[in-house]
Amino acid sequence: MSTNEELFARAQRVIPGGVNSPVRAFRAVGGTPRFVARAQGAYFWDAEGRRHIDYIGSWGPMILGHGHPAVLEAVQKAALDGFSFGAPTEREIELAEAIIAQVPSVEQVRLVSSGTEAGMSALRLARGATGRSKIVKFEGCYHGHADALLVKAGSGLATFGHPTSAGVPAEVVQHTLVLEYNNVAQLEAAFDANPREIACVMIEPIAGNMNFVRASVPFMKRLRELCTQHGTLLVFDEVMTGFRVALGSAQSVYAKLIPGFKPDMSVFGKVIGGGMPLAAFGATKDVMSQLAPLGPVYQAGTLSGNPVATACGLATLKEISKPGFFEALSKKTRSLVDGLLGAAKGAGVPMVGDSEGGMFGFFFASELPQNYGVVMATDKERFNRFFHGMLDRGVYLAPALYEAGFVSAAHSEADIAATVEAAAAALRA
Ligand SMILES: *Cc1c(COP(=O)(O)O)cnc(C)c1O
Repeated sequence: MSTNEELFARAQRVIPGGVNSPVRAFRAVGGTPRFVARAQGAYFWDAEGRRHIDYIGSWGPMILGHGHPAVLEAVQKAALDGFSFGAPTEREIELAEAIIAQVPSVEQVRLVSSGTEAGMSALRLARGATGRSKIVKFEGCYHGHADALLVKAGSGLATFGHPTSAGVPAEVVQHTLVLEYNNVAQLEAAFDANPREIACVMIEPIAGNMNFVRASVPFMKRLRELCTQHGTLLVFDEVMTGFRVALGSAQSVYAKLIPGFKPDMSVFGKVIGGGMPLAAFGATKDVMSQLAPLGPVYQAGTLSGNPVATACGLATLKEISKPGFFEALSKKTRSLVDGLLGAAKGAGVPMVGDSEGGMFGFFFASELPQNYGVVMATDKERFNRFFHGMLDRGVYLAPALYEAGFVSAAHSEADIAATVEAAAAALRA
């Protein structure tokens, strides 16, 4: 049997860093990544046959756990009918209908194959629909790796950003304004400095790429007002939160707190594919009709609306739409966070945490962070030790302090209890 170390060494010879997406390499926490051999329910087994309770779930998609029978059956059946046609299929309509049924702000969607592709296409559509170039994003929010979105804040308030990746020319991000999350004053200053010039503001409504940080209600309310006032499209990147924090996604959470609240465009991925490569972006018919073949904004994809992926997504959405699904998932996730906080308290370690639906975060800090700078200032040393302490005890958490965690319907009360027990032991150590 191969060991994780052998596989990692072999992988590094043929794949840069040994991985096909950087965070998998454990660079933030150190150590050897676990190579997954198979998964079932709430667990995966690594190359050495060790079982782990999985709190990543492919970074969100596996909301039903691994190998859910109804999803498996739908995928197997679809595969027998063909992998890809490059021609329309009925299941694409069904998936579009299933998404729209839960998200009232979205009248039409286009299906694509990754969150990156969906975010990039949404951005082009927002620019095409408004005829404007400037865009706003927030530090710590991740919207995939499209060039224009790989940007960090410039030196001053309301200045344009700098690329965060080599290979992105400064010219390509010259229209991208990067602001601090939850900072109303900066938001107002940005609109003041660029009146009626901003095509869109893209935001993770509950940010899951800086651990777990909610947009505050006053911030979201002001953001909505300013976008409306300036003819700017408010784009919710719900690739992570969509069908994960609630059946109606994060926008339904804000609609409960801010009467009449709706974003103008939405981006989905992860859960809507149930673990297959599938994502989508959507808006009103008016905005979506700007897309080719109806309108002047070009967008296309060989594998878009893939028949096996849509089968997987549809079967997943069907299961999570059953009555009581999110109530149960939310309760379980909340009990995990409460358990972790209790274990930390017992060990005399400062920890705070939060959750919504099946998504959670915890920080080694005494107050919940409101933006990226504060997240990154939390205790990294302690996080890394905790991460490895949990890994040694068979609990697989996200291998970086700036990532969220995910609970699935397959996690049992016993799994949560075992996790909390492991946490208590790891924190004492
Ligand atoms: C994962 C994620 C993306 C990118 O999706 P990929 O499928 O990895 O390209 C975009 N936005 C958010 C909020 C995400 O969490």
